[in-house]
Amino acid sequence: MIQIHQFPCLSDNYGFLVHDPASGETTCIDTPDGKEYLKQAEGKGWTISHIWNTHWHPDHAGGNEEIKAATGCTVIGPAEVEKIAAPDIIIKHGDTVSLGAFTGDVIDVGGHTDGHIAIHIAEAGIAFVGDAVFALGCGRMFEGTPDQFWASLERIKALPPETTLYCAHEYTQANAKFALHADPGNSALADYAAEIDRKRAQEVPT
Ligand code: ZN
Ligand code: FE
Repeated sequence: MIQIHQFPCLSDNYGFLVHDPASGETTCIDTPDGKEYLKQAEGKGWTISHIWNTHWHPDHAGGNEEIKAATGCTVIGPAEVEKIAAPDIIIKHGDTVSLGAFTGDVIDVGGHTDGHIAIHIAEAGIAFVGDAVFALGCGRMFEGTPDQFWASLERIKALPPETTLYCAHEYTQANAKFALHADPGNSALADYAAEIDRKRAQEVPT
């Protein structure tokens, strides 16, 4: 089965390396920090074969050049990533990517930026959603419109309910603070917020 290695990067990003033991292929999900990705891959004994970018922001594509120079990997991402470093392969909604025998479906989740994509690997029950959605919140709407962003969130919502979403930042505590402000009488929310505080006190990802 597919293996996922998650690690903190920069101030509040998460790095993800996704490894398929059968083929030996390993893809970076975004590249907030090239050096950290190379170090983490070496620590796992994995050789990076691909980069999959969700969107063009520097905390998601800023490490592309360094990782490609070190590994010769293939960079795959939406056209907008050209603002940072041109991908080898451009992907858009409806395309697929592969990691060994696994197929990832590319889903348009524009709104945080234009040309923001998510990748859903149905067989593994996982999706990498970048900055489109977070626990208790969504990404800041920099380039898109409310209608566009809502349609994107609906596409994520339409994924099978058992899908694990991998969000690209640790924002849950701040989102919980806002949620409690907006919905102060919600006891389930208060319990969840307390659980988040406990996890963050131990530096556990939420
Ligand atoms: Zn972003
Ligand atoms: Fe980001």
